Amino acid sequence: MTLQPLLTPLSPQNDPWDPLGSLERFGRHALTSVEFTVTNLCNMRCEHCAVGDTLTMREADKLPLERMLSRLDEVEHLQTISITGGEPSYSERTVRDYIVPLLKYARSRGIRSQLNSNVTLDYSRYELIAPYLDVMHISFNYTSADDFHEVGFARSGHSVPRAAAVRMYERMIDNARRLSAAGVLVSAESMINFRTHRKMPEIHQLIREMGCERHEVHPMYPSAWAGDLPALSKQQMREAVTELLDARDPQLWMLFGTLPFYACSSDPADRELLARLGREPRVTVRNDPDGRNRLNVNLFTGEVFVTDFSDIPAFGNVLDERLDDVFSRWLDHPLSRSVNCHCPAAACCGPNLLVKQMYYEEIDFMKQKAVL
Ligand code: SF4
Repeated sequence: MTLQPLLTPLSPQNDPWDPLGSLERFGRHALTSVEFTVTNLCNMRCEHCAVGDTLTMREADKLPLERMLSRLDEVEHLQTISITGGEPSYSERTVRDYIVPLLKYARSRGIRSQLNSNVTLDYSRYELIAPYLDVMHISFNYTSADDFHEVGFARSGHSVPRAAAVRMYERMIDNARRLSAAGVLVSAESMINFRTHRKMPEIHQLIREMGCERHEVHPMYPSAWAGDLPALSKQQMREAVTELLDARDPQLWMLFGTLPFYACSSDPADRELLARLGREPRVTVRNDPDGRNRLNVNLFTGEVFVTDFSDIPAFGNVLDERLDDVFSRWLDHPLSRSVNCHCPAAACCGPNLLVKQMYYEEIDFMKQKAVL
């Protein structure tokens, strides 16, 4: 029998997806997180989907799993893997032939795992996955089944009957509860956007009632498929975060990510909000992993991407190169260097590239310093 390595439980004090940990440990950014895109199929067409323009109705064969596993073997400091799509569980074959083996690999190596899913399919899919998975990451941006119907099929190109959407909504809630009961950390992510920014407390309440262990909150930055959606001002985002903090359940872990606020900001309102986030119990602010400790691998082409959101084309291919080598090349790239700042006292390692482009085009972060 193989002994499983003992792992520190995931908690507000232990988030191995945060790039700050490896930066502090190694004195430079290191590749600790690999994300796999395992499908371009999905049963939904959400308005805000970050990969909406890549979704298809059919897809080609994937690269052999063994090839991926041997590339993972080479990643010296690997700590986490994430599996994403499309809807990764859309095809049961993908679940059996790729997802479960990848998760088993992670378990055998003491690596944490996350699956990004809409959990709207039959529970039997998730039952196959649950025994090997650490974090089930779901999107939850709704206050009702009608919201889900409107947002989740906004780009289907045909009308989806309300009754079908309501069934999926109810199944999603039921599946989230069952997964929590099975010991999986269910983390529901809400995006602060033009639709949700005044509804965050209501959304939070529903996530609590679903029995999720964590509520993850990210501002939505219009990009790619969602590029035509209205952007919020920083003031509107600050207000949304503040309202949510005022109304939240202090027992529920809240993880904020990709915030457009930094401790070096010249705006005291940004710094005050960051200070409040730092004081709140069970609230964490994750540094942005995009291009810092994570690479994304496309399982169809082998292409490696350094960021999820900004428009940087594939930076290499697993068929030709070790992932650690692709990552080192990226760290030397001028774009990566432009946001490679670090203020240890503020526990901050710089802005997301897309956020810099949107709100801080003129700022040279390499000359900035946290004001504490
Ligand atoms: S690490 Fe960069 S973004 Fe963060 S406070 Fe320091 S200078 Fe600003």
